Amino acid sequence: MHEMLIVASFWQSYLQALPQPSVSPPSSITQQKNPAYFSEILSRRERHRQFFYDVARSKDDPESSEKEEPKTIVIFAPHPDDEILCCSRTIAQRLQQGDRVKIIYVTDGDGLQEVLPARAQTYGRSRRTESRVATRVLGLEQSDLFFLNFPDRQLSDLMENENVRSQYTGQTYTNHDSAFPHTPYRLSLLQKNIDRLLSRLEPDEVYIPSQIDEHPDHRVTAQIVHNILSLREKKPDIYEYIVHGKTFPDQEIASRDPLKLKLIRFFRSQFHDRSHRESLEQFASTEEAFQRVGAEIVKKQ
Ligand SMILES: [Zn+2]
Repeated sequence: MHEMLIVASFWQSYLQALPQPSVSPPSSITQQKNPAYFSEILSRRERHRQFFYDVARSKDDPESSEKEEPKTIVIFAPHPDDEILCCSRTIAQRLQQGDRVKIIYVTDGDGLQEVLPARAQTYGRSRRTESRVATRVLGLEQSDLFFLNFPDRQLSDLMENENVRSQYTGQTYTNHDSAFPHTPYRLSLLQKNIDRLLSRLEPDEVYIPSQIDEHPDHRVTAQIVHNILSLREKKPDIYEYIVHGKTFPDQEIASRDPLKLKLIRFFRSQFHDRSHRESLEQFASTEEAFQRVGAEIVKKQ
């Protein structure tokens, strides 16, 4: 840390002497976590400058160094792709800051209509793979992803029925390779498994779908997580995102993010036709908006 402060002091004086010559890149794990995503957002030189600027600021302000404690962020995705559509910029930024990011997928999105059950299962596995690839580009590991494999398009059935059978895969319990294998499709067991994950991860912030999202799986996911969190002692900050339906009232139209667009294009299984593709690509925006529960403002990242 002492060496870092010396470097920071150097950087402070260096900032005043513009234009700047190029400098050797500093070694920083946080900068290397997701270079594929970030390298084009900020130039290499800008990132080096920002890094030293932040260190210099933390030296001057004792409070800011106390705020550097890494946080744990948990994102709930009803289907593989929701995490990228709603939160890929947020994930990249939080990893860059040194925070931990974990994603819980409630279903595999295997609700493929008018096909044999085995085909629907294969489709679900391919959707998992798409999420694995896209999140790897962001800098996440396989161990950061939790696939619960509950029935796609039928989460609302769990609220009304004791045991549910997937209309698509024919399954009544989770796959052997899910985070909790061979779990019967029952609301109480889904709640229990999510609660166990939250106990293990102890998130500081949780991102969930909005309760005004038009997709029933999204609304039910939100309701389930709200119910579980209300019973837990540690209360993380909760942020809601919208994928289906209207945007938040004061959400603005931002410009297109070509890197987010690249991530979205990993989800080829969702490009059923041109209109599907375009509806997904419209999420490639330079702004991600969240409604913080209990607050009126929309947070933008
Ligand atoms: Zn979804």
